[in-house]
Amino acid sequence: MRIRQYEHLYQLTWMPKLFPVNCYLVEEEDGLTLIDAGMGFCAKGILRTAAELGRPITRIVLTHGHGDHVGALDSLVRLLPEAKVYISERDARLLAGDRSLLPGEVQMPVKGAVPKNVRTRADVLLREGDRIGALTALNSPGHTPGSMSFQDTRTGALIAGDAYQTFRRTAVSGTIVPGFPFPAMATWHKESALDSALKLLKTKPTLLAVGHGDMIAEPARAMESAIAQAARLLGKELA
Ligand SMILES: [Zn+2]
Repeated sequence: MRIRQYEHLYQLTWMPKLFPVNCYLVEEEDGLTLIDAGMGFCAKGILRTAAELGRPITRIVLTHGHGDHVGALDSLVRLLPEAKVYISERDARLLAGDRSLLPGEVQMPVKGAVPKNVRTRADVLLREGDRIGALTALNSPGHTPGSMSFQDTRTGALIAGDAYQTFRRTAVSGTIVPGFPFPAMATWHKESALDSALKLLKTKPTLLAVGHGDMIAEPARAMESAIAQAARLLGKELA
């Protein structure tokens, strides 16, 4: 496992060269917030890193309900009974193994691995604008119907889950990247993902931190060119 730091944010990465999977620890006044719970084998490294930082994990926040983001959730919750679990109201259904669509949603099948055996249920169902410590929750649907991103109000760093990927190249969720097409293949609705990518760019992030790939400082240009590419592939004119 590899660790990189940007101010209050620690990026934990497994298999960085082949199939990178990231989780994040965010320093808060009362402890650490874990963003995403990786795969089953990630629990140990997450707990060891928190121990090295000398702070308790008080919150577990999930960007979306895919298996490579919730894999270690049950083990972590068992070992961290005090930690509160947060996910968007919409993706709480995915966390419960339910891929069905809601009326009013684009009727495209939810893609990607949605495990059916996760026992943990969220303590807090998130909505747009909610605060979790220093983080603001932002709806960023597309990869899944209830995907959320989180911006650190202290630094402007944006933790965007799979709304973007940065491995191999920076791309909007849904754009196939040669050598690492998996996030695109697991994307529910590309048009929504493009709208979300634009919305996230407008938050003027100082850092882009995603589920798969390295953190990018001053990411505006990389995000803009990823958006332009996604728009071109979808045949959309950008305003
Ligand atoms: Zn995903």
